[in-house]
Amino acid sequence: MTKIHEIEQKCSVCGHTSPQPMLASTNTMGYPDLDLRPAEMKRSTMNTWILECPHCSYAAHNLGDMLESPKDLLKSESYTTCDGYDFKGRLSPRFYRRHLIAKESNNIEECFYNLLYCAWTCDDNEDENAAEIRKQAIPYIEEIIPHGNANNLIAIKADLLRRTGQYEQLIEEYSNIYTDDAAINRVLKFQIQKAQEQDNACYTVEDVVESRRF
Ligand SMILES: [Zn+2]
Repeated sequence: MTKIHEIEQKCSVCGHTSPQPMLASTNTMGYPDLDLRPAEMKRSTMNTWILECPHCSYAAHNLGDMLESPKDLLKSESYTTCDGYDFKGRLSPRFYRRHLIAKESNNIEECFYNLLYCAWTCDDNEDENAAEIRKQAIPYIEEIIPHGNANNLIAIKADLLRRTGQYEQLIEEYSNIYTDDAAINRVLKFQIQKAQEQDNACYTVEDVVESRRF
């Protein structure tokens, strides 16, 4: 089960202290979504993944960690307004802002994952910005595919394309992709099928397992 403690954290940017949730333990039971979003209970621990200082809006995994970019970034219009995105969920701005910090320090992988997490929080709040955020994430995942766990990333990118309605591109790009992982190949076939049906809904790996056609 999930255990979250509250601890006081001192912000490395403004020096103020605030109570913050800290994840002590969690678990997952069940299949992840096709973009590898974990099942419960880990699914509901996102409030501990990136914290936000209530005094200066610094967003970080640990507020004691040094800000890698010039402090002015936190006061910029881009940061304060999340580039104009009017997010519905309270967690979405944190991940978006963390991506802006990562962008400033050219950390492509961190940019990608924080945009993906931002999209997940949009999904949770039926926030239409989800598609736009996923679109922003695609160029970053394309940059990290050659360097990361390629099979998982290739599968996530297919889901990003489908969830943003880029069906033709998905079908064209993935029709001849075969990884060395049979399970991932089944997921990719499922994605192509759903793209042909112009279906942009959220599916889990369980849906693929149950769908014996793949
Ligand atoms: Zn602060």
